[in-house]
This record gives sequence, structure tokens and C-alpha cells, in this order.
Amino acid sequence: MRILFVASEAYPLAKTGGLADVCGALPIALNAFGHDARVLMPAYPETLAKATEVTELADLGRPLGMSPARLLKARSPDGGLNLFLLDCPPLFDRAGGPYGDSTGKDWPDNPLRFGLLGQTAARLVLDDRLADWRADILHGHDWQAGLAFAYLHAWNMRRPATVFTIHNIAYQGMFDVGWVMRLELPWSLFSIEGIEYYGSLSFLKAGCHYADRLTTVSPTYAREIQSAPQGCGLEGLLAKRSADLTGILNGADYGVWNPATDPLLSQRFAASEMKGKAKARTALEAELGLAPDPDQPILCVVSRLNAHKGMDLVLAALPDRLEKGARFVLLGTGDAEFETGFRRLADRFPDRAKVTIGYSETLAHRILAGADILLMPSRAEPCGLTQMYAYRYGVVPLVGRVGGLADSVAEPGEGERSGFLVDPVAAESLDAALDRALRLFADRPAWRTLVKRNARLDFGWERAAHSYDALYSQLLRQRGRTP
Ligand code: ADP
Repeated sequence: MRILFVASEAYPLAKTGGLADVCGALPIALNAFGHDARVLMPAYPETLAKATEVTELADLGRPLGMSPARLLKARSPDGGLNLFLLDCPPLFDRAGGPYGDSTGKDWPDNPLRFGLLGQTAARLVLDDRLADWRADILHGHDWQAGLAFAYLHAWNMRRPATVFTIHNIAYQGMFDVGWVMRLELPWSLFSIEGIEYYGSLSFLKAGCHYADRLTTVSPTYAREIQSAPQGCGLEGLLAKRSADLTGILNGADYGVWNPATDPLLSQRFAASEMKGKAKARTALEAELGLAPDPDQPILCVVSRLNAHKGMDLVLAALPDRLEKGARFVLLGTGDAEFETGFRRLADRFPDRAKVTIGYSETLAHRILAGADILLMPSRAEPCGLTQMYAYRYGVVPLVGRVGGLADSVAEPGEGERSGFLVDPVAAESLDAALDRALRLFADRPAWRTLVKRNARLDFGWERAAHSYDALYSQLLRQRGRTP
């Protein structure tokens, strides 16, 4: 099957979170089954700098009244991923991130930027002349890809089968109604049975409404988003489309997240070898200037810092634990109140709390290598990846019992994948979970057994790729096309 992924980020070409991890790894896992999955994404400066074998495929003219745009063909740096890049310098050649400037403020023309991404995806799957490659399946990811499905519907041509994956329903891509005309969408689509959401244009709803099949990134989240509050207003539509909605748990890319081969670590180890883990811990203490203490765990956070991620709860629980000797390291960026709150915590406990506000692949890997307990008490978590990486790195996850966290973590004794569950996600149950975690950590032999067993769990992409493969095949059969 030829599958076109459409997304605003794919690791390692551009990444702000889990979406990139999925769009960088799943196509490769599908190709291992003999499929031909490729990714269409914008040609951001960092993407062009990293991509290899970049050639021009087609002149896209002046789409949506923009200056000339081009479709490029390229590969990821290691050659594993085939890419189509949408090159439109006025829209994508900017300093800053994929969605906003360096202060985190969204680009005001995001509807145009990602509207053009969706329109280009629709053109690419309908017109062989653009790429000499015609997809059997268009698979869009998150709101930035949502309008692809609206254009395909509007143009009413024989189109490929379509799948839309919701990685996080809290981000819906809602914009002023004026964009409907500007994006050359027919006015008839702007209705409740279409792209309209309480008077605004919703990119996410376009995907949810017009794609043949919907998926999301864990079975529990697939259930949660069919009712309030987790459905974030789209619960009615999703409940109506329940038969078309599947939850497939994401995988962990062990090519990138394996402490035995990780080039970003100064000390490589297999977490089943607890000796190597101790060295990685010492390396982290030395790198960050954290007071060494073999008897006390290192708690960690690697995350976007916001209330969805339960960062207020972490911030409230930590001072007491740090007073009692625990240590804490954090890497993250996000809401100013949390950035400030964690910085203050580090000032208050200079030897025992180290806080890095920023984004760093290297430090993310090193923190997991050196820490003992991952704090991830999310209030909503479509899948969550860090808890899966944590297992391999000998870090035991302490998580909210929601979404994909509920599908990948169980209390010791309740299942194979062991960590600590915060349920309900609130201060008292976080405290109780921390008590259980610290008690078990103090029982060194029991902790070692837990860590070693967790390190052997397999959350690789193969299982998820099988599920997507089955979904695509079934969809093509239903549409009368042989996969
Ligand atoms: P989300 O997609 O909601 O941010 P996930 O757990 O699904 O959460 O994925 C988070 C990914 O982003 C992980 O790969 C994690 O290591 C990475 N990450 C998050 N914050 C940072 C940061 N500040 N620096 C480096 N990597 C980060």
C-alpha cells in the first residue's frame, strides 16, 4: 500500500512533541512490512538543513494567492524516511518553531500555513503529475492536516481512502470564519455538518468529520474523547462516529530510545544491568551538579509544562519530598507560571533540585538514563511516550490513570508493566503514589527486580504498525479496492 502521512512535524526533521516521534517512526515500521509510506510536511529551515537528497518535484504555482510554492522530494538524514516537503518561503522560512516565534507566540497566519499543507496533500493524492506517485491512503495527523479532508470532500473527485489520527484533541486549530473564503473552501462546508464549530472554522473538526476512519493514540483515550470533558466539545461528533474510531497505542522507537546504543549518553547501559544504571546516575549528578546520594531516588520530569500534564500537582508535592532528601531534575518548557515555579523550587533547594527550562534532546536522554522515578501525573494524556522510554532506561513511571498512561502502566502486582498510578489525578492520590514509590525504592532488591523486568517490556512500533496495517487493509476492502 502507498500511504501518504501528512503532518506538521516528523522526527528528526522537526519536533515539538510526541506527534513528531510518531510521524518519524510509524512510516518506517509500516515500510518494514513492505508498504511504501511517505511523509508530507512543511520545509521549515531546520527541516531543509537536516534533509538529504533534496530535489524539486513540482512547481505548485501560486496556491491560495501566495508567492510561488514548490513540492520537494527528500529523505531523512539516515535515509530511512521518504519525504515530500512543501516549500513556500514566505510561510515557512522563519526563525522560531513550527507554530510560533521564539517567545512561543503562535504565528498569526497559521491557518494559511497549515491550510496550504492540507490543500497540497489533497492535490498530491489526486494528481499523479505532481509526484509520479499516487497514494492509496491519505493519513493525516492532528489539526494541522485537518483541511486535507475538507478539500478532498469539496473537490468531489475520485479520492483515496482517508484516515485521520487525533494525537491531542485539546488542540483544535480554530480560526475566524473569514479564513473560509481566504482558504478557498466552499461556503457550503461551513455548517455544523462540516467545518464549523460554534461560529469558527475548526481544522480538527474537518478531519473528524470528513475522514473515512478516525484513530487516536490509545484505546482508553478513544473511549474518553467520546464524552465530556475529555472530548473538548467534539464528544458528540466522536460518539456518533464511534464505529469508525479506533484507539491504537503508540510505540516507542527503540532505534532512538535504547540506553544500550544511545549516542547521546556518555555511559551506555542496559537497564537490566543495574550496575550501568548507577554509573549513568552518577554521570547525571556530575553534569547537573546534583548532590550525590545513593540512598535517595532522583525524581524527574521531561515534559511540556502545563496543567494538562499535572505540573501544578508536581510543584505542590515536591517541597516536602525534597525536605526529606529526595532529589529532582526537570527539563521542560511551557506556561510561564510553571517555568517560574520550578525555577523558584531550584533556588530553594540548590543541591537537590535542578531545573532546565528549554528544549534539549541530549539532556532528555541523559535525564532518563540517570533518574529513578518519572513524574507524569497528567490529567489528560492521549498516549504519552516518555513513560514507555522510561521503562527501557530503568526509570519507573508514576502517572495519572488516564488515556494511554492507563494502557501502559499498572501498579506492581496488577500487571507486567509496572509503575505507580495516580487515581484520581489530585494532590492526595499523588502523595499516596509517591509514598508507595519511595517505599519500594527503599527496598533495593525489590526495586532492582522491578526495573529489570520493566526494561524487558516491548513497546516497539511493530505491534502498532500491525494494527494500522489491518485498519488500512480493511478500509481499502470496504471501498472495493484490493490492498
Ligand atoms: P506530548 O506529545 O504531549 O508532549 P509525549 O509524552 O507524547 O507528550 O511526548 C513528549 C516527547 O517530547 C518525548 O519524546 C519527550 O522526550 C519530548 N520532550 C518533551 N519536552 C522536552 C524538552 N523540553 N526537551 C526535549 N525533549 C522533550
